[in-house]
Amino acid sequence: DWAAALGPRRVLLPSPRSFCAGVERAIEVVERALDRYGAPVYVRKQIVHNTHVVDGLRRRGAVFVEELDEVPPGAVVVFSAHGVAPAVREQAGRAGLRVIDATCPLVAKVHAEARRLAARGDLVALIGHAGHEETEGTLGEAPDSTVLVETVEDVANLPAGRRVSYLMQTTLAADEAGRVADAIRRRFPDAQGPRSADICYATTNRQRAVCEVTGEADLVLVVGSANSSNSRRLVEVAEREGTPALLVDGPADIPLDRLAGVGTVGLTAGASAPPALVDAVVEALRGLGPVRVEERSVVTETVEFGLPKEVRP
Ligand code: SF4
Repeated sequence: DWAAALGPRRVLLPSPRSFCAGVERAIEVVERALDRYGAPVYVRKQIVHNTHVVDGLRRRGAVFVEELDEVPPGAVVVFSAHGVAPAVREQAGRAGLRVIDATCPLVAKVHAEARRLAARGDLVALIGHAGHEETEGTLGEAPDSTVLVETVEDVANLPAGRRVSYLMQTTLAADEAGRVADAIRRRFPDAQGPRSADICYATTNRQRAVCEVTGEADLVLVVGSANSSNSRRLVEVAEREGTPALLVDGPADIPLDRLAGVGTVGLTAGASAPPALVDAVVEALRGLGPVRVEERSVVTETVEFGLPKEVRP
């Protein structure tokens, strides 16, 4: 069998991986809201894009809704880490909802930039993915002045004759977003980019870290849910480095057929995926034969965000 032939399978764990500060804060907001206000606490959209996190909070009394018209008047509602458009805040105000905002401060920073740039008359090109909650929220800050740009090709469709600036979704692949930004600057040489990086530290670090193991790994597994932007970008980054990569929601999804002959597995996790799931995947791999686990750290993260006042101790 393969174990006898190859010896223990190596599992390389790039670090950082798994939860970022914005996700930890958002989950804590819901947990504290449940403690302080009691169930049910409503949450607009998935608090973070991870099925295990959402299921766990649902068991504790969180009620996830798509839109605010599903929330009874006067109820407590948490806005997800991905942020909301101003129209959603206004709707909550009209409905008398008690809002606790778990928007990641790094997403809120991009919203503030969108407002500032639109207010001075710029056409704001938002580099990001259509239909993602974060881009929908950011686009809502100045809908008449903001245009979503998904690809290099989309740059040709930006209207001429206005000063252009650009912003980015926080969870993009840095290489790909950079190519779109280059295309914007080629067409609009005066275009201004973000003052500081919009792709957040956690996204950047996880992408750098996975590149540490792609050279050695025969296969990269990324723990994350299918709707998690930064997790999907980790799969793409690994593939662009030339290593096959797969997204797995948890240990049950490990594709046994793809592990045949794989001596070294790179195992990382998106910013919304709990560390316990990574451990569970390692255990599942152990169940298939001996494994040797090695950490590969590129940087230690120390970022922490304070809690919103409604749930502060
Ligand atoms: Fe905030 Fe980045 Fe985490 Fe998104 S991935 S919640 S922007 S820290």
